[in-house]
Amino acid sequence: MSFRAAFSQTQVLRSRLGKMASQFSNTDAGLGLSLADLPKSNVFTSKLPPDPAFETPESSHQAQRERLYPRMVKNAFFTFVRPETTDDPELLGVSSKALEDLGLKTGEENTAQFKAVISGNEFFWNEENGGVYPWAQCYGGWQFGAWAGQLGDGRAISLFESTNPKTNTRYEVQIKGAGRTPYSRFADGKAVLRSSIREYVVSEALNALGIPTTRALSLTLLPKAKVLRERMEPGAIVCRFAESWLRFGTFDLPHSRGDRDLIRKLATYAAEDVFNGWESLPGAVSLGKDQPADTVENPTRGIPWNKTQEHQYVEENRFARLYREIARRNAETVAAWQAYGFMNGVLNTDNTSIYGLSLDYGPFAFMDNFDPQYTPNHDDHMLRYSYKNQPSIIWWNLVRLGECLGELIGAGNQIDDDTFITKGVTEDAAPALIKRAETIIERTGNEYRTVFLNQYKRLMSKRLGLQTQKESDFQDLFSELLDTLEALELDFNHFFRRLSGVSLSDLDSELKRKEVAPIFFHAEGFGGIGYTEDSARDRIAKWLDKWQQRILEDWGSESDADTQRQNAMKAVNPNFTPRGWILDEIIERVERRGDREVLGRVMNMALNPFNGEWGQNREEEDRFCGDVPRFQRAMMCSCSS
Ligand code: AMP
Ligand code: MG
Repeated sequence: MSFRAAFSQTQVLRSRLGKMASQFSNTDAGLGLSLADLPKSNVFTSKLPPDPAFETPESSHQAQRERLYPRMVKNAFFTFVRPETTDDPELLGVSSKALEDLGLKTGEENTAQFKAVISGNEFFWNEENGGVYPWAQCYGGWQFGAWAGQLGDGRAISLFESTNPKTNTRYEVQIKGAGRTPYSRFADGKAVLRSSIREYVVSEALNALGIPTTRALSLTLLPKAKVLRERMEPGAIVCRFAESWLRFGTFDLPHSRGDRDLIRKLATYAAEDVFNGWESLPGAVSLGKDQPADTVENPTRGIPWNKTQEHQYVEENRFARLYREIARRNAETVAAWQAYGFMNGVLNTDNTSIYGLSLDYGPFAFMDNFDPQYTPNHDDHMLRYSYKNQPSIIWWNLVRLGECLGELIGAGNQIDDDTFITKGVTEDAAPALIKRAETIIERTGNEYRTVFLNQYKRLMSKRLGLQTQKESDFQDLFSELLDTLEALELDFNHFFRRLSGVSLSDLDSELKRKEVAPIFFHAEGFGGIGYTEDSARDRIAKWLDKWQQRILEDWGSESDADTQRQNAMKAVNPNFTPRGWILDEIIERVERRGDREVLGRVMNMALNPFNGEWGQNREEEDRFCGDVPRFQRAMMCSCSS
């Protein structure tokens, strides 16, 4: 089907669907739609200012592609730019869950149109009928603590927004690795297969764990595209999607240029079109002196948290509430990273999502042996993006965002005054505005910490099978567990999964607890300095004792209570997480050995991480869920991708 026909059909179907939706919403959308029929929109490009050099899709389309290559772009949030076409793309994998969440029907991935769109060879626009023209976003960012200037989508191109009629969720669908854009700087706009496999798998793995993330629909190999990194490598494209691709860096760039008008436009867009309107944002501050910071333990250990300040009343306008929403979302996401031992590896502001999504997968990793100092980023010599620093780094990023929004936050109820909108703050009013903004940012810091801790405690309690939370759990169970894992160099996620399957009846004497303890050891035993087999077992046994007492408190001793507890724990503690060594093995098999099956099997494991087995290849499943090979633990990646 031609794209012209496809697009006009979409329009017809869209209006029909709209009418039918109320009557047949379940059956109708339950089947899923074709890509062509999926309702599409371009809210982003219609509401925000385009690159003045190419104000319309037509002007960009008529330009030679080379004219859309790197340069500075001002007064804009995006440039209309088409993907580079590519010969003989090979679809390597599709996430079935992503298909479903987008509202696409099963089997759609086999159509020629699907394959053409997700590899950048076709898009939903033509000169006669219009449609949605692809675009690359413009943003800046703070990288490793230094201002990096204009960045932007250097190799990601958004194709369209689509709304799943069943869930009403709108996603921005984009492809990564489809050629240069005005934001490619000195690079080639390509992505290598290696890093694309990693992003494809981890996006879907995090989502399956319930951790907010951008998603991956498909992975396409570009056999004709040879990409130069340290060596020549095959190119690839991941088709990915998210409720929003706005980053803190999207605010940083206009802020750095003093473009207050753009910041206000962007903040308004975020509230109205990314979140569900201003009314959906958090109400007046509920956090106050009732939550003194120094009464709560710091789970990340070693991170200096600010002490709670006295809270005086300050006028909180709608932009302050937007800021708080962004802070709260990021607090919850970073709490989930800490609870599941996930590290992004490059938490620059251009990789930090307004929507609170885990975003931009470079040298990420899941923790192997618990080590709070660990960073998966080979180039991160200062350990800026190490596990233990993630909560404070996200807050650091939020302070940068607070600076961007400072004028809007600080304006209080003057926010809609004409003179403020057009001219900004007067010299006289500035000190009060700054004070107000600072107070709100500081208060949001306390809110961030509280939301983080609540979510972290909630998730850790669940992972340990607890139904209630007790003040003493933090020290006795969480901290002591982490210290034990660190001291004995034991695997973080394996511990929780193995604990899930331990019966309380196997823990009812000290002797038994010491017999159970080695199930948490590696094949070769345990690590650390100064422990003997006996003292290592003893330390774990002591923890198990405290834990089993808390489980008994929460679950009682009825006959089936322990089975229920085990099932509840297995539903939150993954059997499978895509560790570095597994990703390396898949990359090697797909890239060097032409294996096309392993990727599908691993994706299936990533999509169903809590399964005990997957019925695919038992030996492989056991290996991928088992001990991390000794010399492949705590691997590091370089940023070259
Ligand atoms: P990242 O470290 O992947 O978040 O990328 C930082 C910035 O560099 C972003 O603006 C990317 O779009 C850009 N970038 C990274 N790799 C490439 C590439 N191969 N081609 C073009 N731009 C890139
Ligand atoms: Mg990035």
